[in-house]
Amino acid sequence: MIDHDSTNAEQKRDSETFDRLAAISLTRPVWVRVGQLIDGRNDHGMQRADIVFEAGQILGVSSPEYLIDLGPWMEGQSEPDALLPSWTVLPCLVEAHAHLFLDGAPINFEQRKQYLQQSAEQFLDRARARWPKILRCGVGTVRDAGDKHGVGLALAAEAKSCHGKLATTPWIDSPGAAIHHKGRYGSFMGRPLEEFNSPDQCVADRLSAGADRIKLLVTGIIDFKTGSVKTKPQMSSAEVGTLVDASKQRAKQTFAHASGTEGIENAIDGGVTTVEHGFFVTKEQLSKMRDKKIAWVPTFAPVQLQLDQADEMGWDKQVVGHLQNILDSHSQMLCKARELGVTILAGSDAGSCGVPHGMGLLNELCHMETAGLSSLEVLLSATGHSASTLDFAEPVGHIASGYRARMIFTQHDPLSTVANLKRQKTVLFDGAAVACSEDLDTSGL
Ligand SMILES: [Zn+2]
Repeated sequence: MIDHDSTNAEQKRDSETFDRLAAISLTRPVWVRVGQLIDGRNDHGMQRADIVFEAGQILGVSSPEYLIDLGPWMEGQSEPDALLPSWTVLPCLVEAHAHLFLDGAPINFEQRKQYLQQSAEQFLDRARARWPKILRCGVGTVRDAGDKHGVGLALAAEAKSCHGKLATTPWIDSPGAAIHHKGRYGSFMGRPLEEFNSPDQCVADRLSAGADRIKLLVTGIIDFKTGSVKTKPQMSSAEVGTLVDASKQRAKQTFAHASGTEGIENAIDGGVTTVEHGFFVTKEQLSKMRDKKIAWVPTFAPVQLQLDQADEMGWDKQVVGHLQNILDSHSQMLCKARELGVTILAGSDAGSCGVPHGMGLLNELCHMETAGLSSLEVLLSATGHSASTLDFAEPVGHIASGYRARMIFTQHDPLSTVANLKRQKTVLFDGAAVACSEDLDTSGL
C-alpha cells in the first residue's frame, strides 16, 4: 500500500527545497551535493558529486574521482546548500528530431488532416503553448526537423533572443522548410528544389530565411502495407553532395530524412551530418557512417506507434508482421551501430502521428533501451553526444563548468531504466524549479 499523505508531504518538502535553490541561484552561486551525477560526457554515473551553479550557468563540478576546488565560488561556505544523497542529476534532454508545428498526440487521421488546415499563426500559438509541458518531460533543447510554415524558425528566433540570458523556453534551432523534389514526399513540411535555379541558391534562400541547418528529404517513407520503401530515392548522391557542399561553404550542418537502403546510401555518399530514421540501413552502411563521422537518429517512436496502436491504425495481421520485422531489424542495427562506434542520437520524430512532443522523446529512449542499448548509452544519446554532434549555439547537454544550468533531478535512478525519467522529477532551468509529476496529460502535445 502507498501512503499518499507521506508521499505528498515528501513531494511538498522536495519542491520547497528546489524552489529555495532556484531562488538562491538568482542571487549567488548554489552548492548541492547529489548521490549520483550523469554529466552527459562520462561513460558511467559518478557517485557523490558536488555541483556549483548559478541561474545562468554551471560553475564547477567535483566528485571523488574528479576533484576540483569549488572554493573560489563558495568562499566562506563550508557546507553545501543542499544535501541530496538519494538524488541523481543529469542534463536536460536534447530532442534531435521533432516537428514543432505539428501536434503529435492525436492518432485520428481526420483530426490530423483538419489540424493541417490551420494558419501559420495558429500553428505557432499551439507550439508555444506546448513548451511548459515539454519542459516537464525534462526536454531542454529541440532540433526542429522542418516545416514550411515558419513555426520552427519563429521559435528558434525567440530562443536566439534569449541566447546567453536566462530563458523560459527551450533552446530551439530549425532548418525552416525542408528541401524536397516537386511532387515527391514531404510537401507538408518542405518546399521544392525546383523553385530555384540551382541547389546553391536554394540553400542560400533557406539560410537567408533564418535556417540554422539544412534538412534534406532524400527518400520517401516506409509503405507499411508492403513493409518496404517502394519509391526510388528523391535525391541522388551527387545531388545530396551538391547541397551538402553548399551548406558546408556556409558552415551549416545537413540532416537527411532517409529510409530504404538505396536512399540511405545516397545520403551517406553525399556526406550529410546525420541520417534520420535510417530504416533498412545495412551493416556496411553503418561502417561507412562511422568512417565518415555521420551520426544516426533512428526514430523508433513513429513506427513503434504503428505497431502498438495497430487496431486504431487499421492494420491487419500481415502489416503487423511487417512492422514487427522492421522494428526487429532496426533494433539489431542499433546494436550493430553501437558495436561499430557510430554516433547515435535520440530523436522521436515528435509531431508524427501518435508521437507527442516531450513524452515522445521519453518513449523513444525506452525503445532504444529495449532495442539493446544500456541506459547510460541511451542517456548520452539524448544529452552530451547529441549536443556535441549537433553543435548548438547554446552550451547545453552537459553538466560541466560553462554549460547552462538546465538539469533534471530525480530519485528514480535512470541508470536502472530510462523509463524512470517518466516518474516524478524536478527540472531546474535557468533559475526556475519545475516539479514534474508522473501523470502528465499529453493533450496538446
Ligand atoms: Zn521527421
